[in-house]
Amino acid sequence: MAIKETTMRKPLVAGNWKMNKNHSAGKELLEALIRDASRWPERVDVMVAPPAPFLANFAMHSIERVAIGAQDVSAHADFGAYTGEYSASMLRSAGVRYAIIAHSERRAYHSENDQVAAAKIRACVEAGIKPVYCCGEKLEEREERRHIKVVTGQVKTALGDMDAEMLKDLVVAYEPVWAIGTGKTATAQQAQDMHAEIRNALSELFGEEFAQGVRILYGGSCKPENAAEIFAGEDVDGGLIGGAALKSVDFAAIIQAAG
Ligand code: PEP
Repeated sequence: MAIKETTMRKPLVAGNWKMNKNHSAGKELLEALIRDASRWPERVDVMVAPPAPFLANFAMHSIERVAIGAQDVSAHADFGAYTGEYSASMLRSAGVRYAIIAHSERRAYHSENDQVAAAKIRACVEAGIKPVYCCGEKLEEREERRHIKVVTGQVKTALGDMDAEMLKDLVVAYEPVWAIGTGKTATAQQAQDMHAEIRNALSELFGEEFAQGVRILYGGSCKPENAAEIFAGEDVDGGLIGGAALKSVDFAAIIQAAG
């Protein structure tokens, strides 16, 4: 893909492994990516988010080029009586660099909302973890033509109480719920249009300079066959990849498409 002339933003391709792979299979996938990393375009950042039990070990065995991210994080900082939770500062101490926040599966199965997302983003910011904040509309919201209001509303609720300095490492992932794991992809135009709306909402919150610096990823059935077309959008700065991140060859092809 030709480098977009108007943007200084470095693309990010992030793999969300969800609850897939045991330790040895995950390690094999990570090692395959590490072997391939020298072939990736310089200007693309890469992150993978394995299941939580493997984070510390994988962070220890990974390389600078393959950042390790968590799929979730506690809203509580830093230590305390929160059984089953792990804090952003714990992630940081284990070498983890990003955390995915408010993925639609966490919203659907764990009742996460944008207030919870705000607390998690704040916890990440305080601990030095880069937050990857997920937003996106459901199918009926798009069909009722409420999708722009819904998504920009999510962004404003989750981020509105923070400021530009706090959010300097923010990544936003636009993931239309109807496209996640369904094989249905947003068209390149639908993705670009929503990314522009999100950037506009960020500009209203924190100013144009801030908004122009934020990476906005597309997620939802992104694969080697459609990645280049989607990533060509002016406001599309890479992807959050689910299913296609589980095969090193497919994930590497998507990284190439972002370069
Ligand atoms: C995701 O879970 O963030 C995702 C985009 O999944 P998939 O690529 O499988 O649709």
